[in-house]
Amino acid sequence: MKRLTATAVVLTLLCAGPAVAASPVGIVREVMAGATGKMPQSVRCVTGQELLIGDGRRLQSETVGVAIRTGSRHIVLLDWKRVCNPIHRFRTGRRVQPADVIGAMSTVLHEKAHVNGVRIEWQATCAAIPGVLRQLRRWGYTARQLAAVKSYLTVVLDKARTGDYKLRGRCHV
Ligand SMILES: [Zn+2]
Repeated sequence: MKRLTATAVVLTLLCAGPAVAASPVGIVREVMAGATGKMPQSVRCVTGQELLIGDGRRLQSETVGVAIRTGSRHIVLLDWKRVCNPIHRFRTGRRVQPADVIGAMSTVLHEKAHVNGVRIEWQATCAAIPGVLRQLRRWGYTARQLAAVKSYLTVVLDKARTGDYKLRGRCHV
C-alpha cells in the first residue's frame, strides 16, 4: 500500500480509552487480529529501506506496507515510522494526528486483506474499512465519530489515492 498525503481534515476525534502498555508490533497485531480473516504468520515493523528490499521486488518509495507469501506462510512488513509508530503513539496516549492513525490502521488491514486472498488494490482498501471502524468503536469512538472516519476513508482520503488504489465510489461499507 502506498503512502497517502493526508488531506487536511477536521476530525474531532477523542483519544482512545485508557492507554495500554504494549510494543508497537503488539498493538499492530491487536488491530490486525480485531478484523476478520486469518492472521499472517509474522508481522514486522521495519524501516522504509527494509520495506523496499523486503520481498525482492522493486517497490515504489512511497510503499508503507507489503504482504509477502512464501508457500503457505504470510509475512506482513509495515513501515515503522508511518504505520507502527502512529498507532502505537495513539494507543499509548501520546500526541498524534488522528488522520495518521486512521491511515495507518487502514494500511494494516489492507495488508491483512491481501493475506486473505484479496488481490485487487482498491478491493483490499475497501475490505479494510469495516475493520478500522470496528476497532475504533472498541476503543470508544461514538457513532458520530465513526461516521466521520468512514467518510474520511471512503471520500476524503480517496482524493489522495492513485491508480489501482482509488475506490472511485465502488466501496460500499
Ligand atoms: Zn496492496
